[in-house]
Amino acid sequence: MREAAIIGAGYAGLACAVELARHGIAVTVFERSKTLGGRARAVEKNGWTLDNGQHLLIGAYTELARLLRLTGVSPRQLEHLPLTLHIPGQLHLRAAALPAPLHLAVGLARARGLGWRERFAAAALLRHLKRKHFRLFEATTVTDLLIGCRQPPKLRNLIWEPLCLAALNTPAHEASAQTFANILRDTLAAPSATASELLIPRVDLSELFPVPAARYLATREGRIFPGNAITTITPEDGGFRLGGDPGARLWPQVVIATAPHHAAPLLASTGACAHLAARIASLPCEPITTVYLALGEGFTLPAPMIGLTGGPAQWAFDRGQSGGPEGLIAAVISAHREHGTLSRDAQAASTLAQLEHTLARALPRPERTHVITEKRATFACRPGLPRPGIATPLPGLWLAGDYIEGEHPATLETAVRAGVNCARAITGKAPAPENHSHSE
Ligand SMILES: Cc1cc2nc3c(=O)[nH]c(=O)nc-3n(C[C@H](O)[C@H](O)[C@H](O)COP(=O)(O)OP(=O)(O)OC[C@H]3O[C@@H](n4cnc5c(N)ncnc54)[C@H](O)[C@@H]3O)c2cc1C
Repeated sequence: MREAAIIGAGYAGLACAVELARHGIAVTVFERSKTLGGRARAVEKNGWTLDNGQHLLIGAYTELARLLRLTGVSPRQLEHLPLTLHIPGQLHLRAAALPAPLHLAVGLARARGLGWRERFAAAALLRHLKRKHFRLFEATTVTDLLIGCRQPPKLRNLIWEPLCLAALNTPAHEASAQTFANILRDTLAAPSATASELLIPRVDLSELFPVPAARYLATREGRIFPGNAITTITPEDGGFRLGGDPGARLWPQVVIATAPHHAAPLLASTGACAHLAARIASLPCEPITTVYLALGEGFTLPAPMIGLTGGPAQWAFDRGQSGGPEGLIAAVISAHREHGTLSRDAQAASTLAQLEHTLARALPRPERTHVITEKRATFACRPGLPRPGIATPLPGLWLAGDYIEGEHPATLETAVRAGVNCARAITGKAPAPENHSHSE
């Protein structure tokens, strides 16, 4: 039986492992942490199980959906909602239960909080992108695109800029318009209305895919070593030796499935990938902070997910409406560099104040709060960023992760696709097709 080693049990590494195991390759996964899932994992805090960051999936995540089915995950583990943007007192836009593109057209026509000027402008932006076959000049930012397409300030503030931050984790004035257009193509302008559905996990992020993936591997000669960091990769005749591998084996195929800042030193340790390592180390990154507020039983938001304005947080999720504890709110602050300098208590207090302002009422004092900042949550999705491919200068050594070149920003789907594509390269199969679902 052929063998491969994977460094990292995040969504990319586990997707790669599952796909290799499916093709009869014995995989061994080394994971530095005791918990599986990487940047999408559960964390334990004083008896509280939370995700290290609130995650939202969308219907266009087709490769992750395939792997969830393959590893036996019930569709009920995800709360499916039609595309809904709800900002209390300001905006209510919900896709209609109709086939595309009527779902969006009717949703826009019925939207509360938008005038006809905004409705026509939104449709005009999508028409403009379709006319251009969703191909834009590489250097264009999202702000350039919105200004060029005369999007009114209200539409920019309430819809496009928050969507850009949520999808690209990069502020509109710095974000790649091409990547944003790719997202719009594969969601709002996709031929199927399901592509733009919002999927909120009803279980924690380690339970969603990593744990079922580990079960799948266990039945196919796959092994996972949690709490086992790999420190170096040394090329030898016939493969690679990994510093930290308790078996000191020679691996014919090795996949580095870590975040970019961990991949760079591992690549550099080979002595043969200095240029690639330096390129990866120089990728800029953006933080994400998740503020958890336990507001007590009986507390609910007007929708499972609402938009917030006038403060650092952009979205608040009511975990109680998606299988979590009643009254638990997760507020997300994307790419907000200055906010990270506040203390955790100050961040929780300012998020609570923002929620009170948005809901226009006083809220109960939180029973407990928890703030998690991932300083290097994703790469900053700027125009023309040189993202590496899965191949390295060393045959048999591969890269997987959410920063690998592709049409989409750093997401679970990007990570999973890179992992699957590594597996396909190792097994000699064609790469997973890009999710080009628009009709021209
Ligand atoms: C707070 C937050 C919110 C997010 N929200 C969303 C969202 O709503 N929707 C969405 O699609 N995406 C979201 N993302 C992005 C998504 O989580 C990532 O794109 C994805 O999890 C990256 O997966 P990965 O496998 O590429 O990397 P990682 O998850 O970073 O996995 C790499 C793994 O490698 C391990 N590792 C590192 N070095 C070593 C070593 N030397 N030896 C062994 N193991 C090692 C790490 O411990 C880790 O487990 C969010 C990210 C964050 C941080």
